[in-house]
Amino acid sequence: MSVVTGPLSAAAQTSTEPTIDVRPDLAPVARFWEQLPLTAMKAAQWESLCDGCGKCCLAKYEDADTGHMHYTDVACFLLDHHSCRCSDYAQRAERVPDCVTLTPATLADPRWLPQTCAYRLLAEGRPLPDWHPLVCGDPARVHLQGHSVSGRVRCEREVKDPLLHLVDWVC
Ligand code: SF4
Ligand code: SF4
Repeated sequence: MSVVTGPLSAAAQTSTEPTIDVRPDLAPVARFWEQLPLTAMKAAQWESLCDGCGKCCLAKYEDADTGHMHYTDVACFLLDHHSCRCSDYAQRAERVPDCVTLTPATLADPRWLPQTCAYRLLAEGRPLPDWHPLVCGDPARVHLQGHSVSGRVRCEREVKDPLLHLVDWVC
């Protein structure tokens, strides 16, 4: 592996309340993610796709030969380690210049995102998992079933070399 990629983020990250499945603005189109292409989604629908796993806010390394992403347990300093949400979502671009905002354009090749990321799943034509907040109706299930980074990461400000903190539990 040779190419270092900084913490990545998504437009769906939020710094306060977790996204939930039942929202008045989403109600008119049930299971909209199965009916609409990503490019046709409204902002609230797009935002609600984020499952709150926090994986995209970890330092990671790309294998230059295979393109495989190797994750660490080193999180962006703005990530709330419990909720797995950005603690300053509104100002994230100014505070973390390499924070990537997810758009249909940045999903043209979504393999840089975790395999479980809802944006990647939909971009690749795959269904959302049954633990996804939009599917199960419970925004806590992503944490309870171990699909998030909650309680398993350390702050980048406490780490000298993220490469020494590679983990195999992020997929
Ligand atoms: S990796 Fe997780 S936190 Fe990041 S955008 Fe995808 S679903 Fe949201
Ligand atoms: S600023 Fe950091 S914590 Fe916030 S969304 Fe971007 S990578 Fe994640």
